[in-house]
Amino acid sequence: MLLTHPSSPQAAQALARKLGNAACFIAGGTLLQQSWAEPRLAPQATHFINVMHWPEMQQISLSPQYLHIGAGMRLEAVRRHPLVQQHAPVLAQALAQLGAMGVRHLGTLGGNIGWGEGDCCPVLLAMDAQVELTDSNIQPLEQTLKLQQRPLMLSFLLPRSDVAPPPPLVFEKVGYRAAFSPALLRMALRWSDAQQHLSVNRIAAAAPGLGVHRLQAAEKLLRHAHDLQIRPTLTDIRTTCEQSLPPHLAQIASRLIAGHCGLLA
Ligand SMILES: Cc1cc2nc3c(=O)[nH]c(=O)nc-3n(C[C@H](O)[C@H](O)[C@H](O)COP(=O)(O)OP(=O)(O)OC[C@H]3O[C@@H](n4cnc5c(N)ncnc54)[C@H](O)[C@@H]3O)c2cc1C
Repeated sequence: MLLTHPSSPQAAQALARKLGNAACFIAGGTLLQQSWAEPRLAPQATHFINVMHWPEMQQISLSPQYLHIGAGMRLEAVRRHPLVQQHAPVLAQALAQLGAMGVRHLGTLGGNIGWGEGDCCPVLLAMDAQVELTDSNIQPLEQTLKLQQRPLMLSFLLPRSDVAPPPPLVFEKVGYRAAFSPALLRMALRWSDAQQHLSVNRIAAAAPGLGVHRLQAAEKLLRHAHDLQIRPTLTDIRTTCEQSLPPHLAQIASRLIAGHCGLLA
């Protein structure tokens, strides 16, 4: 196995840039390992770059506007952290449903987001999370996730709940009813006011092979319905979801949206 331990995140990013497609950041390795033909035998052609030995990526702290979560924080440590429970309770709830304890003790938040489909992706996207990169730039997570070559993420910035009243947010995870089966759809919805109903302004969904993205057509439909005080039908919502999801997932997503917006009664 080819594994390098660069001296700093900046050195890691420079190495990844130099190696191009042969490079792969590795944190807990819990996701990456699943794609190896032999679980204990890493592919020879890949140059793994260890991102787990810099203390600055393994901290949780507050700045005047944001909760900062280091990308190298283990999932279970994020879930249990009092600042996460206070400022991002839905993230803590999503983490409670993620894998088994063993996976949460090894896997990291950076690995979950780096995957681009994990449970935390829609939650962070719906919260308008930002990402700190190795050149000190801070950019919206939505932008980072669209990049072909995903950069090394150092930390995630989430709005503090005591600076502005946090908008209502829910997380849903749908899968087959089996002892172990990967989720079909992960979704987070955020409202702009406490009344909820049609004031949804963020709908983020992740599904295997599709990555995480906002369902912008559905957001637009609900915004329009909210402004004009009209009630969209389940079919209207499903049609907009089909613009970015395959029909079977659009059907699930539209029912979740309609249910949370009080449109099924
Ligand atoms: C049995 C089992 C059950 C699981 N159940 C779930 C589940 O229910 N929900 C779920 O979401 N996931 C699940 N997973 C997947 C996985 O464990 C998690 O998504 C975990 O968060 C991955 O973190 P990691 O540190 O192990 O990532 P790794 O495997 O080390 O890396 C994953 C990806 O992220 C990239 N990466 C890692 N760190 C960074 C960084 N700082 N910046 C940029 N890119 C980075 C890597 O290059 C790689 O592409 C499960 C895995 C297993 C084995």
